[in-house]
Amino acid sequence: MQPIRARISSSITRIRPSATMAIDQQAKAMQRAGTEVFNLTAGELDFATPPHIVDAARAAATDPAAHHYAPTAGLPALREAIAEHTRATVRLPLDASQVLVTNGGKQAVFQALAVLVEPGDEVLLPAPYWTTYPEAVRLTGGTPVPVLSTSETFRVTATDLEMARTPRSRVLVLCSPNNPTGAVHTREELAEIGAWATRHGIWIISDEMYASLTYPPAEHVSILDAYPDAAETTILINALSKSHAMTGWRVGWMIAPTDVISAATTLQSHLSSHVNNIAQHAAVAALTGDQSATQHMRDRLHHRRDLLLTALADVDDVTVHTPDGAFYVFVDVRDWLNDHPDIGTSRVLTEQLLRQQHTAVVPGEAFGTPGHLRLSFAGDDAHIRAGAERLRHYLTDPHDRSTR
Ligand code: PLP
Repeated sequence: MQPIRARISSSITRIRPSATMAIDQQAKAMQRAGTEVFNLTAGELDFATPPHIVDAARAAATDPAAHHYAPTAGLPALREAIAEHTRATVRLPLDASQVLVTNGGKQAVFQALAVLVEPGDEVLLPAPYWTTYPEAVRLTGGTPVPVLSTSETFRVTATDLEMARTPRSRVLVLCSPNNPTGAVHTREELAEIGAWATRHGIWIISDEMYASLTYPPAEHVSILDAYPDAAETTILINALSKSHAMTGWRVGWMIAPTDVISAATTLQSHLSSHVNNIAQHAAVAALTGDQSATQHMRDRLHHRRDLLLTALADVDDVTVHTPDGAFYVFVDVRDWLNDHPDIGTSRVLTEQLLRQQHTAVVPGEAFGTPGHLRLSFAGDDAHIRAGAERLRHYLTDPHDRSTR
């Protein structure tokens, strides 16, 4: 008799569903049932894509030249625009041949790991980390190794990384500005990390999705600008999703040495071919056209960040970290949970908060750091104010917690 096999392959059962999606879906189900929910889980801006980008897509949609297969690695004009855009912040002679256009930043993350990681390799993930990284690593057969920063700032150092290094360490995935903490590494920190990784032959995947959303006086620095000598072993990842309010268009990219780009292009040719041409034409307009919308969105987000920080000020036993970039505030509730053993974990806290205060936030468990909450300030002001007020109410009013 044939042995009974599981219906789903072990490589897929190894990966876990996204906890961010789970809470978001619960919140949306409540909304569909008619409940007003203050959803502070959003990973996207509430702004529309700027009109000149939409116009470029409209023009492309009516041009038969855009109706057919195009080169896997991306339209030449877009690869050139991405190289040019990156050269503005990375002072290296990056060439269009080092660019692969992907379906959003997420596909770039998967492909970068697939190209570099062998089964058994370890991938260092500074924690808190974006929820997709460990699952993408598992899919390659690699082992995710969370590295907790020893500093209060959540900014991992070369010393922290050295403590986690083993002979199997193959890749470091760095994310600055960071999702979920908003932490932004300084040039000096990045130079040290770059030197450390290069010294030990460890590849760097630098996820710079939130580069354009950095709040002064903080400044985004790409690791390749801070430490150009790492260029042969670094993959930069970026997308238009956050910078141009284009999450739904699915345009991202990776920039890497040409052997890596060639391998990732082969993989993508069998996986998804190329990004749809209409979105690619829109992306050219996004990168080469007027950038004032990005500036405007950053200014609005800066204001919303301060609104949320003010609304959360002075809650006992709760530490709120000021994010220097991205659009999330990461809140440390470990002391509060110690005082409330009946609730015990940030996951239970978020479930109760949703049920009782109709406010959705993501628990730290999703990012490898239980005892925290991630609050998004990507939504509108009224929404942020109301959600923060309800969270404050939940944390400070025991009567309200137990009876609602
Ligand atoms: N990297 C980080 C850190 C993110 O937060 C996200 C999306 O939330 C992505 C990558 C993927 O973005 P995209 O929507 O372009 O696939």
